[in-house]
Amino acid sequence: MEARPDLANIEDVVDGAEPPRRARRSAALTIITASETQTARDCLQKHHFKYREKLRTKVDAPALAIGSIFHRGMSTGLRAGWLDVDGLDIEQRVAKQTAAATSGIDDLVNKWMAKRIEHGRDLDFERLATEAEETAAMVKWMLGHYFHVTRGDLERLILVETETPFSVPLRDVRGRPVKHLISQGVRDAVFYDPTYNALDLHEHKTVGQNPRDIDRRAEMDPQTTTYINSLIEDLAAGRLKLATTGEPVPRDAVVGRLSYNACKKKVPSTPKVNQDGTVSVAAIDTLATMYVAALDEQANVRKIPVTEKQYAKAKELADKGDTFFARVEYQRTPAEIERWRREAFMDASRIREANRNPDARTRNPGHCSMAWSMKCEYRQLCLDPESVELRGQFRVVDDIHTEVREAEAEADTPA
Ligand code: SF4
Repeated sequence: MEARPDLANIEDVVDGAEPPRRARRSAALTIITASETQTARDCLQKHHFKYREKLRTKVDAPALAIGSIFHRGMSTGLRAGWLDVDGLDIEQRVAKQTAAATSGIDDLVNKWMAKRIEHGRDLDFERLATEAEETAAMVKWMLGHYFHVTRGDLERLILVETETPFSVPLRDVRGRPVKHLISQGVRDAVFYDPTYNALDLHEHKTVGQNPRDIDRRAEMDPQTTTYINSLIEDLAAGRLKLATTGEPVPRDAVVGRLSYNACKKKVPSTPKVNQDGTVSVAAIDTLATMYVAALDEQANVRKIPVTEKQYAKAKELADKGDTFFARVEYQRTPAEIERWRREAFMDASRIREANRNPDARTRNPGHCSMAWSMKCEYRQLCLDPESVELRGQFRVVDDIHTEVREAEAEADTPA
């Protein structure tokens, strides 16, 4: 068994010195993404299955599939809101965004369902048809709601890019780019704010719970620091241009502002109307505006006066605010970016070590064994790694960073 590298070797890498000979020989890792780093931090065995053996599920799990369908719609909608909008007012631009964002959703959902059928996951066609319809309706509502509540962006910001791949070198402690480590990824959206001469990075997340809970986690997300670092590099290199005019973003723009946008994967419930025509005051997960609209109909169409309890319910919902969308804004300081930079080298070093030394490829059941843990797609294989039958349930990808390659292909496709 090969000896593990000592801390001195890691520091050599951090300082940008020539990497040790053995590390260079076995360091298949040249490109690193936030997803790969996160997978390695979660569990090195999982990283091995996903990035060394290149095993991927044949069908995306619902959370992943819905997230990527939402992102496709979001990116189409953002472009529609900023490009070719001469003469349109804000309401028309929002309508244009929503129409463009939602136009391809049925197709994307149907493709996902078709894959599920193809790979024999689900053969209850009736239930699948209902699920497809509900999923498409939900994603369309989420997109429409997003563009409705973020309409202020249209007045305040200028679109720079959306779903754009990046590839930037990591720098050593003296600021020199290192040759053996490149940071790649795909930024959800970047805007230029002319009032503050600042670049805003926007991240879009689809969540199962109250989106406001995201504020407890967003600031710790290292993925966004990866993106901020890439923005700093791309800005300095003059690679950022306003999508609207093609003019370069001013090189002295401030970089570090982040908006974390969380959208709940749910359609608000329609307020229930009792047999006597009154709107129910039972607990309900909806928007205050929808509840007030139902009360309005009760009072003006069915001519039934609104009760004290109903007023109280409407106020309760209004006090709760929007429980279907939340935006958390924060800033990445130079000190945090520097800390991320050093950690990126340490992560790369750990991954290289796990790649060449099976003993370093430790499992982390703490990541997958709790009732609230995300399900690990490699669980069965983890328990029986030699099983040919289990391996047959996965596909082997050509490139481990598929999300970046797909975004590159999309960027190269003429509009
Ligand atoms: S099942 Fe758990 S321990 Fe095994 S690879 Fe997945 S996350 Fe790691």
